[in-house]
Amino acid sequence: LSQRINTDGPDDEMKELTVTFNSMIDRLESSFQRQNQFISDASHELRTPISVIQGYANLINRWGKSDPDILQEAIDSILSETEHMSALIRKLLFLAKGDQNRMLVQKKLVSLNEIAGEVVKELEVLEVNRKIVFEEKDKAEIWGDPDLIKQLLWIHAENALKYTKDGDLITLRVWKDKKNAFVSVGDNGAGISKVHLSKIFDRFYRVDQSRNKGISGTGLGLSIAKWIADSHFGHILVESTEGEGTTFTNVFALSGKMKKEGEESRKF
Ligand code: ADP
Repeated sequence: LSQRINTDGPDDEMKELTVTFNSMIDRLESSFQRQNQFISDASHELRTPISVIQGYANLINRWGKSDPDILQEAIDSILSETEHMSALIRKLLFLAKGDQNRMLVQKKLVSLNEIAGEVVKELEVLEVNRKIVFEEKDKAEIWGDPDLIKQLLWIHAENALKYTKDGDLITLRVWKDKKNAFVSVGDNGAGISKVHLSKIFDRFYRVDQSRNKGISGTGLGLSIAKWIADSHFGHILVESTEGEGTTFTNVFALSGKMKKEGEESRKF
């Protein structure tokens, strides 16, 4: 694939054609490289829990039958590793479907206030020792898939829960300007340093690489969030200060500013 056509020809039209051809090959090549990287990262991430499960199964085999404490420890670890694996596989399938344009995005008129309100209620029910604040400065409606928008907000909410501690604050806000609707999820937790900030939307990227340091995750949540925002022609802004907190702001065109034609059900 790495061969290119020489562009030093006399004919202008031919030159233009070869430039287009070469840039297409470049795009294909980088897409193959991304795909290969994705497969190798995914295999690596799946190998780790499998090795742990194998290790604990061996432990049961050797000592578990006679020692109930070892048996219980092994069972707990196997259960938590399989849970991690199924979360990983669910996320991988989402992204694979998204990459292959097989995800059905069913858009209708949705209220960001309603969806954010549902997330706030569900957070409160969880009783997680965080203070949950909901600020609705405006009523904001967009053309969107309500399930996907809720999933997007939950990705931010789950992260806010994971990277804060007891007594911290999680704030959801909804507002709009003339063109756009905004819904943000902010926290006053660990924050993210500048070096990492540009990479957190990359697949498998985690600031704290070692899962054993306490907080479990796959590094795929924000890639899925970005996919959902992209599929709504929106984007995600992030502001963060290490040690002070993080705010993710999701930006969408207001419903009135979006062409309605063909938006009700579009396959990406
Ligand atoms: P993960 O499953 O690791 O949470 P994500 O893709 O959702 O994966 O997030 C990528 C990384 O971004 C996380 O590992 C974490 O380091 C950082 N991050 C995301 N949200 C927050 C937040 N609210 N506060 C601090 N760090 C965050």
